[in-house]
Amino acid sequence: MNALTPTAPPLLPGTAPDGKTMTLGVMGGGQLGRMFVHAAQAMGYATAVLDPDPASPAGLVSHHHIQTGYTDAAGLAQLAACCAAITTEFENVPADALRTLATQRRVAPGAAAVAIAQDRALEKAHFVRCGVACAPYAVIDTAAALAQVGEDLLPGILKTARMGYDGKGQVRVQDRAALAAAWTALGHVPCVLEKMLSLALECSVIVARGTDGSMVNFPVQRNLHREGILAVTEVFEGNLPAALAAQAVAGARAVAQGLDYVGVLCVEFFVLSDGRLVVNEIAPRPHNSGHYTQNACDVSQFDLQVRTLAGLPLTQPRQHSPATMLNLLGDLWGLHGTDSVPDWAAVLALPGTHLHLYGKQQARPGRKMGHLNVTGATPDQLRATALRAAEILGIAAF
Ligand code: ATP
Ligand code: MG
Repeated sequence: MNALTPTAPPLLPGTAPDGKTMTLGVMGGGQLGRMFVHAAQAMGYATAVLDPDPASPAGLVSHHHIQTGYTDAAGLAQLAACCAAITTEFENVPADALRTLATQRRVAPGAAAVAIAQDRALEKAHFVRCGVACAPYAVIDTAAALAQVGEDLLPGILKTARMGYDGKGQVRVQDRAALAAAWTALGHVPCVLEKMLSLALECSVIVARGTDGSMVNFPVQRNLHREGILAVTEVFEGNLPAALAAQAVAGARAVAQGLDYVGVLCVEFFVLSDGRLVVNEIAPRPHNSGHYTQNACDVSQFDLQVRTLAGLPLTQPRQHSPATMLNLLGDLWGLHGTDSVPDWAAVLALPGTHLHLYGKQQARPGRKMGHLNVTGATPDQLRATALRAAEILGIAAF
């Protein structure tokens, strides 16, 4: 047993004289798990993935793949038995499963932090506690709470407190009647009503915090969403006014500190039309908006996930190239005729393009199939290449 305490020795990678390879585990087998596995394996760790799907992107590339549900006692016992430490790749992993694992092994992030990230109401309360401004909101969990909603929150967005992602579980409401109808349509589950804000842009900050409280961060990412899904991330000097960028970094660090967080945490923000910065939500794991770090920074968000989990030193990441990340959604497949795949060769003929595909068999609209990182010598050169790549792929200009 190696509990997650500041004094616990790091879990060093590689194979011991007894022939055992240090193994790191991850709950969830999606693309984030896959990229964690790649980073861990590159450092010499063996990996284990728990995900019921035999074709999960991470399961396909991991040393071990435990194919059970996330609360399956035998599956969790098997994961704990083969791993020295365990992380998660999605926030909806049952917090109880993390608690069970934590009785035997290092688990980072911890169940308490994940439980807050899973619930928009708890998340918002945490922002308030940390003194980081968020959108005006009200928790709607009873008919009485619905009746008490102030006019100032309308028009608004009604979001289910739990299990939302990529804009799912959200309804935009103009007035009280629409709000009541939306809450009924969502099955009267606990929700958060947020005031609809006028957004100038969206951005995010990824921080990594170690067991000893040391914290590092990536630069601020400027994000473009389309239909509720991240489409493009741009990161270079000047992508945001410097004062706002500094405020976002300070806010993200405060949120992580307040959670006593261990691991990689993404904090999403809105910049409002009047120039104010408000926090939107957190993800207790690497994030889609941080994928550019794989090719544009001296350590990636997945490297830092491995380091925080293993208790290895953290160093402040340095971005060495301006970068743009284009999400490759399933919509791009078949754009040029049935069964056609995007013209990867044409894209890879452009300088500084890095293709990442997740090994998913079926392309469906809105499904995240991969991403393209583009790096350039200057923001201008980067922009020209990224726009050309987008044009080849059939992604609308940005
Ligand atoms: P994901 O987990 O994929 O980031 P999500 O389903 O958790 O998405 P949010 O991040 O809450 O959803 O919202 C999705 C998008 O909807 C935001 O990125 C933003 O573009 C828009 N949005 C959300 N809340 C507001 C708001 N209060 N005012 C204006 N726009 C909003
Ligand atoms: Mg979001």
